[in-house]
Amino acid sequence: MSLVVQKFGGTSVADPDRMKAVADHVARTRRQGQDVVVVVSAMGKTTDDLIRLAHDVCDDPPGREMDMLLTAGERISMALLCMAIEEHGVPAASFTGSQAGIVTDTSHGRAKILEVRGDRLREAVAQGKVAVVAGFQGVSIERDVTTLGRGGSDTTAVALAAVLKAEACEIYTDVAGVYTADPRVVPSARRLPSVSYEEMQEMAATGGRVLALRSVEFARNHGVVLHVRSSFTWEPGTWVNEEGTLEQAIISGVTHDTSEAKVTVAQVPDRPGIAARLFGALADDDINVDMIVQNTSTGGTTDISFTVPRADLAAAMRVSEALGPEIGANSVTADAEIGRVSVIGAGMKTNPGVAARVFRVLSDEDVNIEMISTSSIRISCVVRAKDVERAVQALHAAFELDRAPA
Ligand code: ADP
Ligand code: ASP
Ligand code: MG
Repeated sequence: MSLVVQKFGGTSVADPDRMKAVADHVARTRRQGQDVVVVVSAMGKTTDDLIRLAHDVCDDPPGREMDMLLTAGERISMALLCMAIEEHGVPAASFTGSQAGIVTDTSHGRAKILEVRGDRLREAVAQGKVAVVAGFQGVSIERDVTTLGRGGSDTTAVALAAVLKAEACEIYTDVAGVYTADPRVVPSARRLPSVSYEEMQEMAATGGRVLALRSVEFARNHGVVLHVRSSFTWEPGTWVNEEGTLEQAIISGVTHDTSEAKVTVAQVPDRPGIAARLFGALADDDINVDMIVQNTSTGGTTDISFTVPRADLAAAMRVSEALGPEIGANSVTADAEIGRVSVIGAGMKTNPGVAARVFRVLSDEDVNIEMISTSSIRISCVVRAKDVERAVQALHAAFELDRAPA
């Protein structure tokens, strides 16, 4: 029998009525003769609430205890969903990440999956049960509970789909698929019928949070076909696969991200080894540096700017300031009011001039570009945070993304 993995995000199971709607869909899928493994997120804003609670009792919560706390959210969902599924006369059993055999490294808060055993899930399915797995969590090689990073239930779902050789991995959420831009920012954004792993990876990496980046990387590496769709309307959504869209668009989507901050290390001597020293120290502290820009040198010195997740800004400043005197920097400054807009499209590879057009659109909107980074299918610009939404809307309109390409 074919097996499908169905993942339901926080809004999909936010309250008892939603939980029942999801249970109804799962039971129906099962009755149609499919084997089903379900992955659930914590209800609604539970994870955010738990993080706030932790900070209410402690300034710097230890990673191990934070993970123990956060995994409780998914545990609530999985048990409730099983109860609701059983109401339909369909047998179901819940499993924590650890019970499902999701083994990770020891990096609390952003653990990487090392192995998925999945024996207990296979057993449950063989007994005719729906297996409901708590998303976003695993157990480390040191037997501690870990979490996979925000949005990590997507990764759980894809990893299970890969190891259980599922026919597809359905990601149910509060929008009907992957859109040409975040529909909350661009109401006229269009659902893409399909998108390639490559494009989806760039979208996820630059703020298109409909899929967690790691889940897309995992899907690409293991050839797991994803179907992103709505748990509110249940209509067909967006397929994420190798081929992607058959549309001949140059640009597939515009993404934005306001979760990063910028650090500038000013007037460091322009000689070999400075960047290696600075970024080496940041890496040693596990700080995830994203964009890096170094100015041309004037008078033998240069400015180095880089972006980090805002949550890592304090740590990045600590490291950079401590290193400042040693590398001869004149000053180290932080800027949390930045945002990034990106245009993504495989068509860029064969169409020159996209960057120029992006810069022209931003200039016409009077949006100043502070940093630029590109890949073969992406152009990203760092701008003021307050300009981000306007920039996204202008780019979406300029590239006519609300209209299906001919
Ligand atoms: P879930 O709780 O189901 O995991 P998320 O909030 O993580 O849901 O992801 C869904 C949200 O992603 C949508 O509500 C939407 O606002 C946002 N989003 C951002 N970019 C896009 C995009 N390009 N297409 C669709 N949704 C997007
Ligand atoms: N509950 C976790 C979060 O909010 C994981 C997930 O929803 O995917 O990030
Ligand atoms: Mg999500």
